[in-house]
Amino acid sequence: MTIPYRSPFRVGVLTASVALLTCAMPGVAQQPRERQAADLIVTNGYVVTMNDGKEIVENGAVVIAGGRIVAVGPAAIAVQFTAPRTIDARGAIVMPGMINTHTHASMTVFRGLGDDVPDRLRKLIFPLEKALVDRDLVYWGGLHGMIEMVEGGVTTFADMYYFEDEVARGAKAIGMRAVLGETIVDFPAPDAPEPYGGLAYTKTFIAQYRGDPLITPAFAPHAPYSLDADHLQQVAREAEALDAPILMHVAEMTDEVARFRTQRNQTPVEYLDAIGLLSRRLLAAHCIFVTDSDIALLKARDVGVAHAMVANIKSAKGVAPALKMFKQGVRVGLATDGPMSGNTLDVIGQLGYVAKLHKLDNHDRNVMPAVDVVEMATRGGARALHMEDRIGSIEVGKLADVILIDRDTTRMVPFFDVYAALVYAAHAGDVRSVIVQGRVVMEDRKVQTINVAEVRARVNGIGGTIRAAVAKGIQ
Ligand SMILES: [Zn+2]
Repeated sequence: MTIPYRSPFRVGVLTASVALLTCAMPGVAQQPRERQAADLIVTNGYVVTMNDGKEIVENGAVVIAGGRIVAVGPAAIAVQFTAPRTIDARGAIVMPGMINTHTHASMTVFRGLGDDVPDRLRKLIFPLEKALVDRDLVYWGGLHGMIEMVEGGVTTFADMYYFEDEVARGAKAIGMRAVLGETIVDFPAPDAPEPYGGLAYTKTFIAQYRGDPLITPAFAPHAPYSLDADHLQQVAREAEALDAPILMHVAEMTDEVARFRTQRNQTPVEYLDAIGLLSRRLLAAHCIFVTDSDIALLKARDVGVAHAMVANIKSAKGVAPALKMFKQGVRVGLATDGPMSGNTLDVIGQLGYVAKLHKLDNHDRNVMPAVDVVEMATRGGARALHMEDRIGSIEVGKLADVILIDRDTTRMVPFFDVYAALVYAAHAGDVRSVIVQGRVVMEDRKVQTINVAEVRARVNGIGGTIRAAVAKGIQ
């Protein structure tokens, strides 16, 4: 049974119009009347495709082979395939994985430190990073963050930090998809003693991970104010030459806005456009302080935007006009920001805030409906990363990044509207299983790929070192 989404209640049953493909995927034999070989069948689930028609298959199956989705449809299609493994998704929503478009996963080690303290970034975090950030901290802290993301149904994340090759190593170990930007900044960094040393580091990192099936290495110039124009332009040129994305914080700070207004009579977005940074390569995080003409520029230049609502309201910075950007066709995805800023890497936990804050901000309960929020968390995130041809929906030919969310829980019953349930009721703890590129990364709440207890022990150890440094008065 396939049902296109009709809010608020769906009535009747439409004929199945979900694509069933028996294409020449690796591992799928071309034998029309015989059962075809697949790797994994997820069946008996409530399949929310997030395709163009927002089709839902109430009792559906998703068939995976060679890391891709090769069939989607009513559960009956499963009999056309044979696979060594079947997951019974009874009582679960089966949907594309959540996409976290901006974070600093390794900063889990600093989570909860100096919250609610003025200027803690300069007083506390920058000195701690300078003293303590090394390969170990980035690897174990990053992996700890990735466990949290997997447990919350995130299958792809975009990250900016130091020693980003260690984040890549962690992502490969746990089996997550990631766009990873090595930070470039005009002061000495933990992994690059010279200002702008991150540029050379990035090029080595890109060479190391080019063509990786899970990792997309990227440039991460920190912000428009923390690199000079020459270096920003150099980043743009190198990114073009190496066909790599650029991740950057944009229009996030009031002093950033004031500085470009005073120095150049421009907004940060206008400045970046003037120096050639705005392009389809750029994923701009935050975009809180953007004008209507900035939004038009972001759209015209095909820039992706990472909307980190919860982190932005916690820091009392403001509400990014994500509703306007989304309506105008800007590529908007959702993000948690780093665990120092938002204290969580759980995208499902962001959904209700995104809906409710934009309703409040616009004094209109009808705006930012739940279906649009789920879109932003999945396909929107894929669009923000310019990866919508590969991920973000459950469609034949796409990479098999699929999650199962229990709907047979107290807060999800009764079940009228899947999007309302996901946005206003679901909890990260409702995520049952997570599949990335056809690999089962978490099953029945248990991460399958790495030793979670070991990671937690390492992170507790690093926490002890940080506590000792703070006690010695590093701030
Ligand atoms: Zn950030």
